[in-house]
Amino acid sequence: MTKPISLLEIAHNIVGSYVAPGDISLDATLGNGHDTVFLARSIGIGGHVIGFDIQPQALVNSFQRLLQHDLQRRVTLRLASHADMLLHVPKQWHGRVRAVMFNLGYLPGADKAVITQIDSTLAALNAACVLLAPRAVITVLAYPGHAGGELETEQLAAWSQRLDQTCYTTEVILSSHDKPAAPRLFVIRKQADLL
Ligand code: SAH
Repeated sequence: MTKPISLLEIAHNIVGSYVAPGDISLDATLGNGHDTVFLARSIGIGGHVIGFDIQPQALVNSFQRLLQHDLQRRVTLRLASHADMLLHVPKQWHGRVRAVMFNLGYLPGADKAVITQIDSTLAALNAACVLLAPRAVITVLAYPGHAGGELETEQLAAWSQRLDQTCYTTEVILSSHDKPAAPRLFVIRKQADLL
């Protein structure tokens, strides 16, 4: 049987259809650096990625992964909450960010007590909307199955419904295991400027 495509792969396919060489993009939750490596490849030598995490281990893991692929020069890693991303993204890039990727929950292989929190997640999403270019995308991989994850996913859904529908569209993609606790991918697309 062929392996079903994962939500992570779907997120990469969608983000890949937005990001072009020279673009700026953000990894809001570095974790083990898979999304950062993907973004760094997509933006080419002329682009840049800024990645955030609050755990030093995530920065170490991500940096090692970038080194393996010789992509470290295209990426800035910040030991900071994604809620503060407006302070870390240079002013000249505000309104120019093509993609922001979130992968919620805990860092695989580390302390499972350190998880994303709804207040900072929503603050980061609001900041991401300020930073986005016209025709841009935010992806959020959410895990309702772990403690706190269900509420976070519900609030995320409510947040996305409050977005200005003339400017943003939201799609929720469920994983192939159709259980209430299964992970889901939120895709928030910002429209191109209307002429
Ligand atoms: N994208 C990763 C998995 C992310 S795990 C991968 O592909 O491997 C979620 C990460 O979010 C953890 O590393 C955790 O430390 C981080 N995190 C939790 N709260 C955060 C915050 N406020 N700002 C930035 N990162 C945060």
